[in-house]
Amino acid sequence: MSETKSPPEGTAAGADVLELAPERKLPEPEERQGLWKKLQRGLLMTHTELIDKMSAAVAGRTTLDEETLEFLEEVLISADLGVETSLELVERLRADLRPDQAVDFLKVRERLVDEMSVLLLDAPPPRRPAPGSGPRITLVVGVNGAGKTTSVAKLARRSQLDGERPLLAAGDTFRAAAIEQLELWGERLGVEVIRSAPGGDPAAVVYDAIQAARARRADHLVVDTAGRLHTKEHLMKELGKIGRVVEREAPDWERRTLLVLDATTGQNAISQARTFTRVVPVDGVLLAKVDGTAKGGMAVAVARELRLPVVWLGVGESAEDLVPFRPREFAAALLG
Ligand code: GDP
Repeated sequence: MSETKSPPEGTAAGADVLELAPERKLPEPEERQGLWKKLQRGLLMTHTELIDKMSAAVAGRTTLDEETLEFLEEVLISADLGVETSLELVERLRADLRPDQAVDFLKVRERLVDEMSVLLLDAPPPRRPAPGSGPRITLVVGVNGAGKTTSVAKLARRSQLDGERPLLAAGDTFRAAAIEQLELWGERLGVEVIRSAPGGDPAAVVYDAIQAARARRADHLVVDTAGRLHTKEHLMKELGKIGRVVEREAPDWERRTLLVLDATTGQNAISQARTFTRVVPVDGVLLAKVDGTAKGGMAVAVARELRLPVVWLGVGESAEDLVPFRPREFAAALLG
């Protein structure tokens, strides 16, 4: 049996959260501006590196000849955009430029921003629940250390800011520290956390959490899960069992599985993602730690090479450091 842990007095979940939420709700544009500034700062390293290398690649050249295109391709690959994506971008440049034509390299950059936005938009868009469609459940998966638990807290905070009543489930029962960490977030945010003793059955926690979400009339149940990739069969069994409990107990709920990837790990994160998508159907990616990395191009590689939409970007360690992914703004921050 799992036990529920109530938040401390004065920060209780439930009605208090609902009352607090609209008051605390930040005006969207300002909030976005602040977070986008943070994201831009985070992407500055990738941006600077890309622009510096590109300038070096085109220095002294007046036409976009084959050699220059190959240099550009290498520059894009080195920014973790992925081989496939970089080839595709350069192919699009090649398609509409005559080799002897004089080019303005600022225009080439603008062109790349446009093409990158188009590529990002080509990835299937995230399924968004219709407003008022009842409770929804988000299963958060990813390897340990990727930023999963922090991202779970961020998603709950986002729900609060949207005026929703979130509930958390500590489904990573393998690590006592993960349960404690989630409880700490629950206390900070005033969100109830459904948990079991360490070593408990994660599917039982999810079962209890669904009943609790129904009883408390929660809008959004966010589930943390275990992420031990080295035991793939075990992980598959565990996530499969959780999935079956959700299907049985909450068949009509909007359900989404988000994969948390650590942007600082570059192409490693891509191979992790491939493993996860073989184990569990993933609907979208939350790319964490985009702040302070020179691997911002990862978001493009994820969208293209995994055919998965990037839904959120994590830009810091606080609960509010979560930015909805916007292809155009992202491409502009990288190359504009
Ligand atoms: P988990 O093991 O996957 O649950 O990972 P945690 O949520 O415990 O996060 C691991 C570390 O990454 C912690 O120190 C977090 O504060 C940090 N972290 C998580 N997300 C972000 C982010 O978006 N930006 C930064 N800079 N740090 C993050």
